[in-house]
Amino acid sequence: MSHEHVRGFVLREVALGEADRLIEILTAQKGLVTALARGSRRVKSPLLAATQMFALSDFTLFNYKGRTTIDAAELVEPFLRLREDLDRLVCAAHLAEVFHDLVRDDLSDDRMYVLWAYSCHAILSQPDPLLVVHVAQLKALSVSGFTPALDACQACRNPNLSTGWFDFQAHGFICQEDYRPAQGRDVLHLSAPALACLKHIILSPAERLFAFNVSDAVKQEVRTFSDRYLTAIMEKNYQRLSLLQDL
Ligand SMILES: [Zn+2]
Repeated sequence: MSHEHVRGFVLREVALGEADRLIEILTAQKGLVTALARGSRRVKSPLLAATQMFALSDFTLFNYKGRTTIDAAELVEPFLRLREDLDRLVCAAHLAEVFHDLVRDDLSDDRMYVLWAYSCHAILSQPDPLLVVHVAQLKALSVSGFTPALDACQACRNPNLSTGWFDFQAHGFICQEDYRPAQGRDVLHLSAPALACLKHIILSPAERLFAFNVSDAVKQEVRTFSDRYLTAIMEKNYQRLSLLQDL
């Protein structure tokens, strides 16, 4: 039996039984923590607001026989504004799913926690939340060990390329000279500014990640790349963003 204190963001909530919630918390020190919040769906529960999706809270956890329950929780920031705008809500829900799939439960590295914090603020404050999501998920993949190899051509190893093709099956970059069109290959042409923007995303710290200005055409290239790279790496089709087209 032990008590511990963690601060974290609620990345997922599942309703259990009559009034319980099983939540997954993204923490700085322990990666993803799964904990049961008993009675937290009751209107009068002291855990109600602090265990809601997207909330940042300080939790007192009780560990017993391999299970974790929440003894107490204090809300730090509810991120309520995420719920007021449907576009931003869909974007945040999609990004939470990606983070949930990437973060391990024994991760002692705080980079994903920091990235989530900056991404949440950017989804709320930036004019194009969909672009924020695509930039953030590419960074999350990169931080998790899935950095797209954009630094040199996979065939000739030339590192000084300004444009070329990305092959999503081989997870690598190919220069114009070595590119051979083939049927069924999942490839995308990258313009010079799009390639530069992708390199910025890979190399920037979280606090400077969203501070760039590119044309609408380049934004579209970045979104397309990020979308297809996510699907190729995770081998999963994420459905939530398709809601945006229906709104
Ligand atoms: Zn080459």
